Amino acid sequence: MKTLQLNKGRESSLLRHHPWIFSGAVKRIEEHAQAGETIRVTDVGGNFLALAAYSPSSQIRARVWTFNTDEPVDAAFFERRLQQSIDRRKRYHSDPERSGYRLVYGESDGLPGLIVDRYGDFLICQFLFTGVELWKQTIVAALAKLQPCKGIYERSDVAIRAREGLSPNAGVLWGEQPPALLEINEQGRRYAINTESGHKTGFYLDQFDNREVVRKLAAGRKVLNCFAYTGGFGIAALQGGASHVLNVDSSAPALELATENFKRNGFEAVQFENVVANVFELLREYKQAERRFDLIVLDPPKFAETKAQFTKAARAYKDIALQAASLLNPQGILVTFSCSGAIDLPLFQKITADALLDAGRQGQIVRYLHQSEDHPVGLPFPESLYLKGLVCLLD
Ligand code: SAH
Repeated sequence: MKTLQLNKGRESSLLRHHPWIFSGAVKRIEEHAQAGETIRVTDVGGNFLALAAYSPSSQIRARVWTFNTDEPVDAAFFERRLQQSIDRRKRYHSDPERSGYRLVYGESDGLPGLIVDRYGDFLICQFLFTGVELWKQTIVAALAKLQPCKGIYERSDVAIRAREGLSPNAGVLWGEQPPALLEINEQGRRYAINTESGHKTGFYLDQFDNREVVRKLAAGRKVLNCFAYTGGFGIAALQGGASHVLNVDSSAPALELATENFKRNGFEAVQFENVVANVFELLREYKQAERRFDLIVLDPPKFAETKAQFTKAARAYKDIALQAASLLNPQGILVTFSCSGAIDLPLFQKITADALLDAGRQGQIVRYLHQSEDHPVGLPFPESLYLKGLVCLLD
């Protein structure tokens, strides 16, 4: 096995079991290590630190499989890690009816770069890193063995793979091709998932817990669901007794599927409206028109992909929160999210506080929200906590 030696003092994060080795920490790598190949990582003195997968073209030069010198990286390793991930979900998923959830969440489940989501009878995966790409067949065989399903489908058609020198990929990996629309059930809500072109693997499974929060807040309220995608929060709100839901998204196909979803859940056309628009512009128009709502959800896309986009992103989060706050009736509720890893919770709270101040509104945070439990946060890997949300009660 080839060895990657770290620069002096650069072992400290690995000693805390952080799974990434950045290019700047590397002193030396034996030549001809291939993309994805398992390498031995040592400190400058040659002491063993980890077994990792090598990624020659990425800033993250290697990702750790194991810190245990006696744990070979082979088919049994992947089967064991997958079984552990599956068992972890069983420990807190008490609802046997729930048919959409994440089975494997990358580094947090000890499988860097691997995402596996279950949608009913199908598994949809992303291989985001050279290590899992190399072991794809082994991983798929283990999944097929451990998780009864009709088919395993790949949705690795994402830009992030380019950083690893990998091209986009999508298609059947095992078993049957999933139908164009799959349906999942969560807490009695039915959502159609577009397997071929939906975002991520098709749906925002990470918002499951927060859909439940919105459901419980919605009774009797007029809801504005911004960045609605296929209606995730909107359907939860109507299920919870909202008087009306207005969904806004810039994507017409996403809102078409939202309409389908509202129908599948038996809601009447008078209960909801879908508007294809830019949220930034529409909120201003509604202010002019003196439209008012009782509950507004803001769940925008990642405004900051990198630290460099930080200032622009902070301004965008503030802008929508400010506009939304001025559209809320007295005693209205603002539920606002950020999925930008570069914006942490204290900063997001400050942005929201500034927005309310500028809108001339007062309020309190009554709840802090995060990604759902099937997207766990690896204790040594704080980067895996990316979703932050606030429930603010306005005066
Ligand atoms: N809330 C959704 C997920 C939102 S993802 C859920 O829970 O399922 C972000 C959505 O914002 C995408 O559907 C994207 O089409 C939309 N979007 C991005 N920029 C937008 C803009 N400026 N105005 C309106 N929608 C936008």
